[in-house]
Amino acid sequence: MAGKVVTITSGKGGVGKTTVTGNLAVALARLGERVVCLDLDIGLRNLDLVLGLENRIVYDIVDVIEGRVRLRQALVKDKRLEGLHLLPAAQWREKHAINALQVTRLCKDLCAEFDLVLIDSPAGIEIGFRNAIAPADQVIVVVTPEVSSIRDADRVIELLADAGKPAPRLIINRARSAMMKKGDMLDIPDVLEILRIQLLGIVPEDQRVIANTNMGTPTVMAGSSAAALAFMEIARRLRGENIPMTSQDPRNWLSRLTSFADHPKKNGNN
Ligand code: ADP
Ligand code: MG
Repeated sequence: MAGKVVTITSGKGGVGKTTVTGNLAVALARLGERVVCLDLDIGLRNLDLVLGLENRIVYDIVDVIEGRVRLRQALVKDKRLEGLHLLPAAQWREKHAINALQVTRLCKDLCAEFDLVLIDSPAGIEIGFRNAIAPADQVIVVVTPEVSSIRDADRVIELLADAGKPAPRLIINRARSAMMKKGDMLDIPDVLEILRIQLLGIVPEDQRVIANTNMGTPTVMAGSSAAALAFMEIARRLRGENIPMTSQDPRNWLSRLTSFADHPKKNGNN
């Protein structure tokens, strides 16, 4: 059976796309899926660092697309976890080095060998974004509970609809219940009310995410933490399991949350 392409995007930079991509890939591989992550942040690659695979890179996606090496030669296979692979971005090239048709063809080849292709999208809504969404069967929009992030996500959701993509699902990253409670940060229901797409999960702010990235150990591999648990649950939901939004949920979020999550209105999602 052919694999599925899931693109992780946001509009805004720094909200956690790369962190989410890397950790979901690890979580899905732990659940037994054959996963490849595709770093499309050409010129600003980071996914290799989140995965701790930077020292294993020999070739990159542009080498494959320009025909210098075969796909198999450029794929980095994780030695710690069966089923996890990375196709790195080129560090010294620009986003214009590849186009949507080439990425789509590449993903078709990857889908023949993998259950899931996770694409880490660059920030912005220009060519890098268009390359990242072109092959997507599903899209995940990552936001932080801040006005600028939500506004950019809203624009991205519109662009996805214009491009004929299925309605994306939402991950709210770096959620801080104390700040939300005080009204210093948008609350979960506020975010859902504005964006009106289906909630896939909430990842709490967790200092260990930064520490783990600096150590080259994805949070999900580093042992149990609030963020690791959240990533595992999101991975299960991506596979179609019905996992209620409970364990990540500081008391005050949940009661209001479910009603919004169950009634997304935009783009005719579900
Ligand atoms: P993007 O790919 O959207 O630019 P990154 O994944 O590179 O964003 O994340 C930006 C920064 O935020 C990184 O330093 C990362 O470690 C940190 N970060 C991401 N998610 C979390 C989280 N849940 N808790 C704490 N820090 C996080
Ligand atoms: Mg990134």
